[in-house]
Amino acid sequence: MKLYLVYFLLIVSHLSSCQNIKDNAKLLNVVNSKAKDTIKSLKKYKDSDWVELKTLDSSFIYDLRYATKQNFVHKKMYPCAKCYVRYVVAKALLNIQKELKNKSLSLKFFDCYRPIQVQKKLWKIKPDPHYVANPKKGSMHNRGVAIDVTIVDKNNKELNMGTPFDFFGKEAYQDYKYLPDTIKKNRLLLKELMQKNHLEPITSEWWHYSYRLKDYPIENWMWHCNEKKLP
Ligand SMILES: [Zn+2]
Repeated sequence: MKLYLVYFLLIVSHLSSCQNIKDNAKLLNVVNSKAKDTIKSLKKYKDSDWVELKTLDSSFIYDLRYATKQNFVHKKMYPCAKCYVRYVVAKALLNIQKELKNKSLSLKFFDCYRPIQVQKKLWKIKPDPHYVANPKKGSMHNRGVAIDVTIVDKNNKELNMGTPFDFFGKEAYQDYKYLPDTIKKNRLLLKELMQKNHLEPITSEWWHYSYRLKDYPIENWMWHCNEKKLP
C-alpha cells in the first residue's frame, strides 16, 4: 500500500512539473514574440532613412544651437530644434547611449542633420572654410551622417572638454596636447565610444563625428516644426 502511495505522489509531482514546463514555455513565447516585435520595429528602417533621434530613445539631451542665436553667427538658422540623422548613425548613437547610461552619463547634441540651404546661409555670413564647410562641397551634416556632440553627467552637466562647442582655436583640436588629464580623459571617452561605432572625428573639432563607411547624398529638406512626418 505504501508503495502505491509513493507511485501516486511521483506521478502527481511529474504532472505538476510538466505543467510548469508548459507555463514556462508559454511565458518564453510571449517574451520571444515581444522581442521579435522590438526587432521588427527597429528593422523597419533602412540605413539611409531619416529618423528623429528622440523617437528612438528619449534619454538623449539636446542644445541645438542653430535653432537659437547662441552660435558663432549669432543668428537663428533653424525654425525649430530637431535632431534628424540617417538611421545608420542613429543605430550607432543608440549603442553609445546604452554604454553611457551604465555610467549614468548621456550624449548631448549641438547639431545633427543640417539642410544645404542652411549651409549656404552660414557660408554667406562666414565664407571661411576654417569655420564652415563650403556648400559647393557640402558638409557631412548636409548628408545626415554627422553630429556635434558631447557627454553630460546625471545632472545634465557637460563633462569638461577644454573648450566650448564651436570654439575655433587650437585648443579644440583633437590632438591638442596641453590639456589637463581629466579633459584628455573626457575627450578620449567620447572618441573611443564614437570610433567603436564607426563614427570618426576630424582634426579641428573635438565635438564633430561622422559616419564615413558609405556615401550618402546632400539633402535640402527642412523639418516641420509641428508635425512628426517628414516633408
Ligand atoms: Zn559638425
